[in-house]
Amino acid sequence: MEDMRTIGKARRDKAVSVAMKRKEEYLGARVPKVLRDRVVERAKALGIPVSILIRNTLEDAFKEGVVGEDVLNPSVGLSDKKAISENFSSVIGWELIQLNKVVECSGCGLELQRGAEASIGLGARQPVVICCACKENI
Ligand SMILES: [Zn+2]
Repeated sequence: MEDMRTIGKARRDKAVSVAMKRKEEYLGARVPKVLRDRVVERAKALGIPVSILIRNTLEDAFKEGVVGEDVLNPSVGLSDKKAISENFSSVIGWELIQLNKVVECSGCGLELQRGAEASIGLGARQPVVICCACKENI
């Protein structure tokens, strides 16, 4: 039985060499299995290779500016501080409020209780409420 890692490397090497022949760049990414399965399934349904489906999807997304801040917010490999401030780049300003209901912090996901102090982001398309700790990190 062949090692899965070897198979993966062979596939990647092949993709890279195909891309090189076409004078194109190779872009690889690790994705959850569920997403991979969905992409493979969709490609099968459309009758096109998976790589073409991914390429078309990426081209469409960047062409139309569909890739929003939430997608472009890389939470992996960055400090929390940078991730949080990039996530709220559409916020014009912060206002300190007293919560009237239980809200989830948009930064850390912590449940904020009614009556607690929090900051609300003005100017964002979606309501953005963050806890004091997250506010400090911006
Ligand atoms: Zn928070």
